[in-house]
Amino acid sequence: MKLYSTNNKDLRVSFKDAVFNSMPQDKGLYMPVEIPQLDAEFIENIEKYSLPEIAYEIASTLLKDEIPAEALKAIIEDAINFEAPAVKLDDKTFVLELFHGPSLAFKDFGARFMSRVMAYFLKDGEQLLDVLVATSGDTGGAVALGFLGVPNTRVTILYPEGKVSPIQELQLTTNGQNIRAIEVKGTFDDCQALVKQAFADDELNGKLRLTSANSINIARLIPQTFYYFNTYAQLKKQGINDVIFSVPSGNFGNIGAGLLAYKLGLPVKQFIAATNINDTVPRFFETGIYETKPSTQTYSNAMDVGAPSNWIRIMDLFKGDVDALKKVVTSYRFDDEETLAGIKEIDNKFNYVACPHTAIAYIAIEKFRKENPMDETAAVFLSTAHACKFPDIFPIEIASKIEIPVQVKALESKSHHADQLATDFEGFKNYLLRG
Ligand SMILES: *Cc1c(COP(=O)(O)O)cnc(C)c1O
Repeated sequence: MKLYSTNNKDLRVSFKDAVFNSMPQDKGLYMPVEIPQLDAEFIENIEKYSLPEIAYEIASTLLKDEIPAEALKAIIEDAINFEAPAVKLDDKTFVLELFHGPSLAFKDFGARFMSRVMAYFLKDGEQLLDVLVATSGDTGGAVALGFLGVPNTRVTILYPEGKVSPIQELQLTTNGQNIRAIEVKGTFDDCQALVKQAFADDELNGKLRLTSANSINIARLIPQTFYYFNTYAQLKKQGINDVIFSVPSGNFGNIGAGLLAYKLGLPVKQFIAATNINDTVPRFFETGIYETKPSTQTYSNAMDVGAPSNWIRIMDLFKGDVDALKKVVTSYRFDDEETLAGIKEIDNKFNYVACPHTAIAYIAIEKFRKENPMDETAAVFLSTAHACKFPDIFPIEIASKIEIPVQVKALESKSHHADQLATDFEGFKNYLLRG
């Protein structure tokens, strides 16, 4: 697989270079030059395959020239070692639970696959890879747990003091080994600014091999296609062939992967991009004007993104043809009040506790079905995180139903540590240089 930049279609880089650089110099995003079609017979018989088998078929179709079969199999078996069940709520409604990995969020798929791909490309004796991540919550946990114990790598995570939930903080600070957490006396934007400045600093780049693990890395996008195909397989097994997906969206990486899956040959009738009031994309669908804005805090805080970084990838997948895009993607926005009403409705109707992000995907489906009555089609909404990560959002009678998973119980007894830094770059730079 060769990749170009969305800002320069003539550029050609290898998958390895795209993985370590994350972003082209011209500030575009890497995209595959060619998107192959998955074998039609494979899709026809997909219900016979397991999640790792499906993952391997997709990954090898894309990456067979870059990573040999045995190594790719090993990466997948190690990275995708948890389930992604499409849980049936009623005959036509399914919730796709993507939170059964170690950090209890769908970002585990991307982070675990990426970390192992990076480790594969790091030859013995190569310089230690320093991964820097700024996080407002979920990304840091997935990256920390994804890289934990991966040889030849060290991860430094910056998170804003007092702004992540208790479980998220435990996931960042209890790892030890090759993972360091820094509590920054500032906001998420301060954390992100420090990381950006580090990448631009000549001295740091001379002495350290820095890389970013953020959601624009192509090695995070690819594994997110796996669960769309796997869901189709699960439904097909039950005699369902027509499916729509509703995706709670922030940076639009998750739905971007869904649309990549569609381009790879997954038969999907419709995608719904569901956002909170950070509604740059729904507004674009309404007005035709793409206008980013500063993010606003909401209950679904992992989607508080005013300038979705993966949007250019989606436009690129559709070659800039907005009409073609609109045939496949619908987009809705919901506010916090509607989110809370959605959480209550799912609880009432199905006795199911959905996290605020998941609830937005659910109410988007209800809205779509009202506007587009469907007989045969099943609707799947993606559950991107376990409800226990957002304990403050739920009314007490719903909160009391949330079961704390074993992963979290194990963390509570571990010792935790974070280094503390202010927001000045010199302090962060010295910290990195000290090693
Ligand atoms: C990151 C995240 C999202 C948004 O996903 P994008 O790929 O950025 O659109 C939604 N829900 C949860 C819980 C997340 O952590």
